[in-house]
Amino acid sequence: MLRTVEIIGGGLAGLSLGLGLRARGIPVRLIESGSYPRHRVCGEFITGLDEQTSSRLQLRELLKPARPARSVTWCEPGRPDMRHHFPHPALCLSRFNLDAKMAEAFTASGGDLRTQQRCTAEPAEGRVIACGRRPLASSPWIGLKQHFRSLPLHDALEVHLGRGAYVGLTRVEDSLVNVCGLFPRPRAGESCSLTGRIRAVGLNDLADRLQAAESIEGTDCAVAGLNYASKAMAPASLGDQQGLIPPFTGHGMTIALQSASASLGHFEAWSRGLVPWTGTIAGVSRDLHRRFRRRILVSRLIHPWLLDPGRRSLIHALHRMGLLPFNTLYRLSH
Ligand SMILES: Cc1cc2nc3c(=O)[nH]c(=O)nc-3n(C[C@H](O)[C@H](O)[C@H](O)COP(=O)(O)OP(=O)(O)OC[C@H]3O[C@@H](n4cnc5c(N)ncnc54)[C@H](O)[C@@H]3O)c2cc1C
Repeated sequence: MLRTVEIIGGGLAGLSLGLGLRARGIPVRLIESGSYPRHRVCGEFITGLDEQTSSRLQLRELLKPARPARSVTWCEPGRPDMRHHFPHPALCLSRFNLDAKMAEAFTASGGDLRTQQRCTAEPAEGRVIACGRRPLASSPWIGLKQHFRSLPLHDALEVHLGRGAYVGLTRVEDSLVNVCGLFPRPRAGESCSLTGRIRAVGLNDLADRLQAAESIEGTDCAVAGLNYASKAMAPASLGDQQGLIPPFTGHGMTIALQSASASLGHFEAWSRGLVPWTGTIAGVSRDLHRRFRRRILVSRLIHPWLLDPGRRSLIHALHRMGLLPFNTLYRLSH
């Protein structure tokens, strides 16, 4: 008799684990506090996702509508742009569609999906915690995003660097452009709008471009409490629960998916009664730690260099001399 795996949180980590387990015939109950479809604060580009993970998690068809991005252009006021080519194309698609399609596929595969139910994220036998970032009340960050139409791009992916902030622009489905940024949390009385924050960090040209484009109502959303210094993960926790990677990497979604893929066999073995729960969570923690620790660490070291205009002068100087090791930094953070 198979035991039911209970997943708390229906973001990418929870849904993809559910899909992978259902493909192996394991009973799964997934509890999600929100509903689908919904917009999420996300740059909506995925870097470094391997074929094996997509196949194991039944995602190949669902990722087909994604637009490939082969390069990224880094822009900042008053400095020449820097263009880099990705070793493998990034995938660009909206969370509005991706999460909803995954939820639909999970239900179609026989998964028990319960939306609009907030559940305790306390560890328990058979329970996987995939409920996203662990919020930090004192976080200095806010994330904002919105979709735009009639917004021409210089590259498949643009990243604009401001004072203590950056903003990514990428084309997703239906000729829409997703604009998403990480900003210092506004002080009382300061504008919380996306264009207001973009101006506040010195990216006036970008704010003018957005104001000349058509913003799509209902696509704007915000997130606070982001913690890019969180440490040890709780047992049986996946995706952002185990530690946030800074968003400039475009790799948080891949980590969510790969953490589901890497833990699939452990949870299947528990469900089949082959391994006790204590052994299962020990195996998951060990594998995830080994797989993601370096990427998160390296990305957190790079992060302050992108935020500080002074340090960025050095990056530009290295770029001009042809000495910026983009591919090495990419490999170490992916
Ligand atoms: C500004 C910003 C930009 C980003 N840009 C990118 C990008 O371009 N590319 C990229 O790869 N990554 C990006 N990320 C990161 C990426 O969004 C996350 O890494 C990814 O969504 C993590 O997936 P997850 O499943 O772990 O968590 P989530 O997607 O956050 O899902 C967690 C789910 O759990 C649910 N939940 C929470 N608590 C409970 C509860 N108690 N009971 C039931 N349900 C609960 C939530 O409703 C949510 O649906 C960005 C993040 C930010 C903040």
